[in-house]
Amino acid sequence: MNDLSFDNVENAFAYKTDKDLKLSHFLFNTMGYPLFVPVATRATPLLMKFGLPMVNKLVQRTIFKQFVGGETLAATAPLAALLDKYNVKVILDYGIEGKEGNENYEKATEEFINVIRYAASQPNIPFISVKVSAIASNELMQTMNDAPRLRSGIHDHEEEEAAWDEVADRMYRICEEAAKYKIGVVVDAEESWFQDPIDRLTIEMMEEFNKEEAIVYNTLQLYRHDRLDFLKLSHKIAEQRGFILGVKLVRGAYMEKERARASQRGYPSPIQPDKESTDRDYDAALKYCIDNLKNIAFVVASHNEKSNLLATELMEAKGVEHNHPHIHFSQLYGMSDNISFNLAKADYSVSKYLPFGPIKEVIPYLMRRAQENSSVSGQTGRELSLIKKEMERRKATAQ
Ligand SMILES: Cc1cc2nc3c(=O)[nH]c(=O)nc-3n(C[C@H](O)[C@H](O)[C@H](O)COP(=O)(O)OP(=O)(O)OC[C@H]3O[C@@H](n4cnc5c(N)ncnc54)[C@H](O)[C@@H]3O)c2cc1C
Repeated sequence: MNDLSFDNVENAFAYKTDKDLKLSHFLFNTMGYPLFVPVATRATPLLMKFGLPMVNKLVQRTIFKQFVGGETLAATAPLAALLDKYNVKVILDYGIEGKEGNENYEKATEEFINVIRYAASQPNIPFISVKVSAIASNELMQTMNDAPRLRSGIHDHEEEEAAWDEVADRMYRICEEAAKYKIGVVVDAEESWFQDPIDRLTIEMMEEFNKEEAIVYNTLQLYRHDRLDFLKLSHKIAEQRGFILGVKLVRGAYMEKERARASQRGYPSPIQPDKESTDRDYDAALKYCIDNLKNIAFVVASHNEKSNLLATELMEAKGVEHNHPHIHFSQLYGMSDNISFNLAKADYSVSKYLPFGPIKEVIPYLMRRAQENSSVSGQTGRELSLIKKEMERRKATAQ
C-alpha cells in the first residue's frame, strides 16, 4: 500500500478558476439527465451540418471547452503551459476523424509531422497520438483486415497492396520525424474490423524505430477478450526482433458498436462477457508490463481509480521509481483531474490527452465523451461529486 490518494480535490482542480468549475459542474450535471445525451448526440451533428451559428457557439462554449484544447495547434499553447505549472504533461491529439481521400490523408500526415515539430519545441509534450484511419481509407483497412495475407502476395489484390504501401509510407514519415525529435507516437486503437492492419503496421514501425528507446506505441483495448494474449504475443515478437514494445493500455471506447455489429452479422463478439472480465484483463496487462519493464514501455490510459492505484502499488512493490521512463499515466482532458493532478503531485509521469481541431471535425470525439459521461452510476457521478466537493471547499475557505 502507498499513501497516494485521488480524493484531494484542491490539487485536482487548482488549475481551474471558479468560472471553469461552474461550467464543468453544469456540463456533468446536464449529461447526467437520462434523455439528454441520447437526444443531443443524435441532434448535434445534424444541427452542426446545417451550420447553425448558435449551435456552433453553444457547443464551443460548453462541451468543446471542457474536452478539447482549441481549434488550432497554437490555440492549445496557453492550456499546455498552464498544465506544465502543475507538472502535468500533454499528449497532443490532432482530432480529425473520417475524412476520406488521398489528399486528406496527405494533409493529415503533414499535420501530424507539424504537431511533432511543435511538440519538440515545448517543455511538456512528450507524445502525440495518431489514428491510422486519418491516413488510410476505412474500406482499404477492412480489406487488409479480412485478407491479412494480402501483402505476402497470396491474394491477387495489387491495387490494394499499392494503396497500403502508401499508408505505410505515410506512417513511416510520421515515425521517422518523431524519432528525430524523440517524441513518442501513440497509435490509437479503433474498431476491431480494421484493427489488424493497424497492429501489423505499428509493430513494423516499432521494429524500425524502437531499437534504442520507445518511440512508437500501439494501443491495446482490454475490453477485447483476445488482447491479453496479444500483449504477450507482441512482447514475444519484440524479444525475438530486438525492439522495445510500446503499448498504451485502455479498456476501449466502442463497446456498444462492436456488440451491435457482431450480433447483426452473426459472428462471436470480440468483447468480454462482462465488466469484471475487462477489469481483470486490464489489471493483468498492467502487471505483465511492470514485470517486463526492461523491454516494455507503457501508458496507463484509464480513468479507473483502482487500476491507476494498482499500477502505483505494483511499482512500489518492485521498487520502480515514480518517473521511470517506461511508465506513463494519461487521462483524457476534461476528465479525472483528481487522478492526473494527484499523480503529478507525487512525481509520476502523467499527461492529459488533449485533442485539438476545428469544431466540426471533433464532433465524433465529443459525442463519445458525452456518451461515456452520461451514466450517473459511472464517471459522471464521480466527476460531479468531486467538483461539488471542491466548490464547497472553496466557498468554506473564502468565508
Ligand atoms: C489517454 C487515453 C487514451 C485513450 N485511447 C483510446 C484508444 O486509442 N482507443 C479506444 O478504444 N479507447 C481509448 N480510450 C478511451 C477509453 O477506452 C475509455 O475512456 C475507457 O474505456 C474508459 O475506461 P476506464 O479505463 O477509464 O475505466 P472504467 O470507467 O472502469 O471502465 C469503463 C470501460 O469498461 C468497459 N466495459 C464497461 N462495461 C462493460 C461490460 N459490460 N463488458 C465488458 N466491458 C465493459 C468499456 O471499455 C468501458 O468503456 C482512451 C482513454 C484514455 C484515458
